[in-house]
Amino acid sequence: MIILMQFGATQAQIDAVCDVIRQQEVEPLVLPGEDRLAIGIPAALTADQRDHIEAALSTLAGVSKITQTSRPYKLASLEFHREKTTVEVKGVQIGPGHFVVMGGPCSVESYDQFYVSAKHVKAAGARIVRGGAFKPRTSPYSFQGLAEEGLKIMKQVGDDLGLVTISEVMSGDMVGLVATYVDILQIGARSMQNFPLLIEAAKSGKPVFLKRSPSATIDEFLLAAEYVLSYGNKNVILCERGIMPLDRSYTRNTLDLSSVPVLKEHTHLPVIVDPSHGTGVSKYVAPMAKAAMMAGADGLMIEMHPDPSAALSDGSQSLTPEQFAALMDDLRSLSGYCGLKM
Ligand code: PEP
Ligand code: MN
Repeated sequence: MIILMQFGATQAQIDAVCDVIRQQEVEPLVLPGEDRLAIGIPAALTADQRDHIEAALSTLAGVSKITQTSRPYKLASLEFHREKTTVEVKGVQIGPGHFVVMGGPCSVESYDQFYVSAKHVKAAGARIVRGGAFKPRTSPYSFQGLAEEGLKIMKQVGDDLGLVTISEVMSGDMVGLVATYVDILQIGARSMQNFPLLIEAAKSGKPVFLKRSPSATIDEFLLAAEYVLSYGNKNVILCERGIMPLDRSYTRNTLDLSSVPVLKEHTHLPVIVDPSHGTGVSKYVAPMAKAAMMAGADGLMIEMHPDPSAALSDGSQSLTPEQFAALMDDLRSLSGYCGLKM
């Protein structure tokens, strides 16, 4: 529920509205607006609580309008948090006005492979290097990642090159370990509704990069973000990475770019697009990356490998360093048109 106050409402009138809400044992959220102030109720109300509040407010001066919020998420909602969120990590801004690129291999395979990848990421002008140390693989016989060794490589390379690092954490009990080595915790698409993991990641205090599950609705996606926010971690970054495809014979997933403007309308959180997992095919990555910028995304996550044909995971969707650099050039040209800093 949101209560819009009249223009020029007095502090006493605002306090009176807050008191009515507190009488129902829920905390009001005062939302200063450009001209008129609003008071939100982030908690889910019972029908009785709603009736009591509405009845009491109808008698109060200074109240202009009462609207029901139809969305189940509150802290993630733009209605309750009217300023867009910028997540800042080691001087890199992820949020409106900026376009950030996270590049790097699917998996950290060795020091040399990761160092060379990160050098290319940096040379192309990207600021964040990605790489998986714990890999969620469909088959237990596929390469599972270098585990802690991979995290150590990441930390060393990130520190040496001055790049922000991001890597996936797959379970709640691993959050402490991964958070020791990397700057941003990635929650993979398969883990989007692993609620104990979301809670532990939130409590770590590190920024949380949350990937949309291939079968998640927008509400489910934002409710997963709500878990992290509700445990006091405001630094949540959303990632659209493709949903269940109708036809797997051409692409691995269907990159739902329409989710970008939808998310931008309903949440204040930054939105990143991953066209690598979104398409699964390296030649489709660049066009979808550019389309993501045009759709209003705040950045991209792109898989790039020094030698995609030799990659231990996701080589078929990984760009070569040259393709990555060319894409970065194109994005820089387009960023001016969109008024974005890169
Ligand atoms: C990844 O980014 O390495 C990854 C496994 O992605 P997703 O969780 O989107 O499949
Ligand atoms: Mn991958």
